[in-house]
Amino acid sequence: MTDFTPLREIAGDKLKLNEPLHRYTVARLGGPADALVIADSVDVLERTARLAWDHGWQTRILGGGANVLIGDRGFRGLIIINNAKAVKVHDDGRVICESGAGMIRLAHLCMDRGLAGAEWMVSVPGTVGGGVVNNAGAHGGEMSGSLTSAEIAFKDRPTETWTRDQMQYRYRESALKHNPQPLVVLRAELQFQTGADPAQLHAKADEFVAHRKRTQPPGASLGSMFKNPAGDYSGRLIEAAGLKGTQHGGVIISPLHGNFFVNTGTGTAADYLALIRLAQETVKAKFGVELELEVELMGEFA
Ligand SMILES: Cc1cc2nc3c(=O)[nH]c(=O)nc-3n(C[C@H](O)[C@H](O)[C@H](O)COP(=O)(O)OP(=O)(O)OC[C@H]3O[C@@H](n4cnc5c(N)ncnc54)[C@H](O)[C@@H]3O)c2cc1C
Repeated sequence: MTDFTPLREIAGDKLKLNEPLHRYTVARLGGPADALVIADSVDVLERTARLAWDHGWQTRILGGGANVLIGDRGFRGLIIINNAKAVKVHDDGRVICESGAGMIRLAHLCMDRGLAGAEWMVSVPGTVGGGVVNNAGAHGGEMSGSLTSAEIAFKDRPTETWTRDQMQYRYRESALKHNPQPLVVLRAELQFQTGADPAQLHAKADEFVAHRKRTQPPGASLGSMFKNPAGDYSGRLIEAAGLKGTQHGGVIISPLHGNFFVNTGTGTAADYLALIRLAQETVKAKFGVELELEVELMGEFA
């Protein structure tokens, strides 16, 4: 068993051993991590990651846990929960965020200050760091539209500042996702347009939220399970395959939206995997389309 005590000096009582991960994911799933550190500042985030990398421990960062399906047997190694969430809004529309800042909160901060361009974030759970890595997006906006640069700690070199161009953003993709070495996004600088009317921005955001409520189920889920294939929608394909409402154990393919798999309360990662396979196999057999996961699998499954 790995000895994680060197982390105590950095993390103090924010180091937890054998900590259940379902507490840290939106879908309320995931067995225990050998060790978990809650990083309340960028300094602790970076020092914890670098210590872990130096020791060669298997290590992953979690922001809001909104896009990960963690196995029922948990994670062998260290999970760092990014809770560094300070945000500084400048008069010229520049916003400097610590990467653990929530996107929903950021949307509200910007709208309150009359900054346009963050409204799409109002219905997307998770952190700015997760959004930067995944190029999160909704309602016609996405992270690549606002990000100007990000400060990133890399395992194999000192911390660097990357521009948007270096990110090579595409639909839910970035160069960071495929970087061969572990990394942590520490801060992001975003640019929004000044001088907008806060009431109008909030009205637009309210429409986005209302649209979501009409079209997507509430409760514990992972958002969209699969990426949309070119020219089509995964939800439409899953519905056309007759799978809406299909239940396995404690997880159901939402009767409202075929691309949302909801944990009814007793769901397990194994239930999710069974439904993922069923959807992939059925859609492939009926329509010849390969559904590619948008959600990331992490840790040990059965
Ligand atoms: C109900 C619901 C609705 C959703 N709707 C949308 C939507 O409309 N559009 C959309 O794009 N997504 C959506 N999602 C998915 C999710 O909100 C996004 O993918 C979000 O960007 C995930 O952020 P996170 O902080 O939760 O990342 P996590 O799930 O915690 O992590 C995701 C990945 O990013 C990595 N990561 C996280 N933070 C960092 C960091 N600081 N540095 C390096 N790596 C990091 C993790 O290691 C992991 O590999 C939805 C999810 C849910 C549950």
